[in-house]
Amino acid sequence: MFSRPPYIQCPYCGENSFGINTICDNHYTRRCRICWRPSGSERFETYPLPPLNKHVIYLDQFVISKMMKCIASGSGNPIDAKYGEYWIELYDRLMVLRNGQMIVCPYSDVHMDESILSGDHAKLKRMYEFLAFDVAFKSLHMIERMQMSNHANWWIEGLGDLHYEFDPQSVMSGAINTWQTWYYFSFPRNWLLNSREEKREYRERVHEKLKGLFRRWQNDQRSTFDDWFKAESAGYGKIILAEFARYYGKLKDISISGGLPSPFEIETPLIIDFVNDVLRVFESHGLSGKGLCSKVLDYFHSPSLQDIPNNRISSMMWAAVAQKAAHGQKRPLNKGMRDDIRFISVTLPYCDAMFIDKECHALLKESPPSKEIEKYGTKLFSLNNKQEFMEYLANILTTASAKHMAALSEVYGESWKIPHKPNFAE
Ligand SMILES: [Zn+2]
Repeated sequence: MFSRPPYIQCPYCGENSFGINTICDNHYTRRCRICWRPSGSERFETYPLPPLNKHVIYLDQFVISKMMKCIASGSGNPIDAKYGEYWIELYDRLMVLRNGQMIVCPYSDVHMDESILSGDHAKLKRMYEFLAFDVAFKSLHMIERMQMSNHANWWIEGLGDLHYEFDPQSVMSGAINTWQTWYYFSFPRNWLLNSREEKREYRERVHEKLKGLFRRWQNDQRSTFDDWFKAESAGYGKIILAEFARYYGKLKDISISGGLPSPFEIETPLIIDFVNDVLRVFESHGLSGKGLCSKVLDYFHSPSLQDIPNNRISSMMWAAVAQKAAHGQKRPLNKGMRDDIRFISVTLPYCDAMFIDKECHALLKESPPSKEIEKYGTKLFSLNNKQEFMEYLANILTTASAKHMAALSEVYGESWKIPHKPNFAE
């Protein structure tokens, strides 16, 4: 329905008015803004666009929040005197690359969930949706299930090397490598969100537990990184089995008592999905009855669970935390640590680059986690190497192909180079 610049000569009326009509996937169409052709049954010619290979860049919530605050308050921002200019320049650079179809900064349910805790919820939402177009990570739970099913399949077959494809598109909703239409839509999404109070209360509870753990690590002078890694990674299967047993115990009690369960009592914990997935995988390999049950138990007790990518990365990060505590770190863990570690460990293999907080960055730079991360080729940035992130982004722009740059001018004119700001007033 639109006809936007840049215009070329119209093959119908001869005016310089044949503009861009639609852009989708890897092509676009044109229409005249004066004679409005093609119209009726006339066929739209499709013009091809070169294939894309966008860098997938994850921005931690704090990065989005800093940029949003600096932009919303104008350039003379009082919010972050130390890094204010950095955030504004970073935003401009990210926007130009996003407009130039070179990067995508997907958002996630963690962004949604964390922004709930902030008074600027609506502005933050606008900001990350603006940066992401309509590309978002599937829920962490879904990605964890995918990785476990893949692993369970390999484990039951007992053949060859464990192999994962870390195709970012497989963990995103919304297409990554598609030429975006010029105008911007905010796609409403339905997220399963906890209320602000629930979220806060949950975080406090987890944090209290972590503080106890941290004290234990501080006093542990005997364990090595490997001990902590093994304990942490074996915990994955144990927790799933324990939750599963607790859930079925509850169902059994209800059944024996003959009472009607309340909706709360029969609410199925998400963790049960893992057991059901593994059951399905094993059944598809011909197992049933007692044999199936004992194999499932073997599986969740198997040390091989440490090879599931998210379990491996998160166990290494926690072992690095324990190591720092044992080596005398006094500073307690920050409250977002657990969520950050979970998010990073699940999504890292699918990202080309991540801008994360300094503490997590430091954990991933420890050895052996740094060795593990090398396997995925994900570049890591934080405030500790913030200038390197700028260079990384600059490099993406300068290495774009001539064909790609020509296509940008063809469909967007020069305006893709303008880092538009979201309208926070809406
Ligand atoms: Zn025309």
